[in-house]
Amino acid sequence: MKITIDRTRCMASGNCVLALPALFEQDEEGFVRLRDVDPASFSQEALEEAVKSCPTAAISFTPESGPA
Ligand code: SF4
Repeated sequence: MKITIDRTRCMASGNCVLALPALFEQDEEGFVRLRDVDPASFSQEALEEAVKSCPTAAISFTPESGPA
């Protein structure tokens, strides 16, 4: 499972951090960055919720069976 964030789309809303604070954090300017944790330790449902919470579609994830 691979999480991809597009920081050029991030508007620093913080929704993803509220949805999944163990995986996402915000830098000093509020833009998203990933914590150094294995995304596979979160349920697909939790990841989908975080992805859906983003107003700018800056987050995506690829399930294990998808392309690397
Ligand atoms: S929810 Fe989206 S726009 Fe908001 S901080 Fe996270 S990645 Fe950025």
